[in-house]
Amino acid sequence: MRGFISFLVDALVPRSCLACGRQLNSAETGVEFRLPAGSFPGLAEFLAADLAFELGAGISVPASVLCLSCWMRLEPADSMGRLERSGAAGETVPLIAPFFTNDELLELVRFLKYSGGRSAVPALGWWMAKALGDYLESLPAHASAAPLLVPVPLHPSREKSRGYNQAFLLAREVAARLGISVESRMFCRIRNTKSQSKLDDSERTTNVAGAFGLLREDLARTRNIILVDDLVTTGGTALACIAALEKAPIASIAVLSAGRVRAPCRFSGV
Ligand SMILES: [Zn+2]
Repeated sequence: MRGFISFLVDALVPRSCLACGRQLNSAETGVEFRLPAGSFPGLAEFLAADLAFELGAGISVPASVLCLSCWMRLEPADSMGRLERSGAAGETVPLIAPFFTNDELLELVRFLKYSGGRSAVPALGWWMAKALGDYLESLPAHASAAPLLVPVPLHPSREKSRGYNQAFLLAREVAARLGISVESRMFCRIRNTKSQSKLDDSERTTNVAGAFGLLREDLARTRNIILVDDLVTTGGTALACIAALEKAPIASIAVLSAGRVRAPCRFSGV
């Protein structure tokens, strides 16, 4: 019965692209939506040939979310970002993201976070795994500890109301693709915070400062910690996690997200 009602709703209320509002065609609203070869000319150049082939021939993206044109408007990040930490002697942290955040990526991440859009995870995770794989390959083998993906935690009350932590879902997807492990209990949320999306840049940093406690000092000491979040905007959330990690003498740290801003993220220190 529910299936029939869904069918009727779909038939009577045409679905629109979340980003541009265009009515989606039948291919874009199928059970899944395979991007045709050549969908991402910029990204295909950026990828190794075998992965570019997989992208064109096989990767599925969530149906009924974005139209093909908006999928193609995602902007591949052409270089690795750095989080700059003023007050830390010019110290920076690698910021790995396959895309620059633009309107289309923002809609996709909002769909994941606020509309129960778990179907966005495989596609975003595919690109994040590619970006992280490149980064890990660039590290000198003798100098790098074993990587460990650590999702930025949600406060338990928010995770309960949402039903999942989107950063954990993304981390698990990336981990499965690259054969590395995930630790979801590295931190605890010491206090709840306002949603970062409703705050300006300076409020974001203050909002999350001191919000996290470190639970697994043993792992922080010995592993190459890859913090995972959906988007990095001001970097305030990542900085708050790094501050908690630095309670231990950390081996190595980087941040992985689906999207980042174009300009370097600068922190005022927490
Ligand atoms: Zn569109």
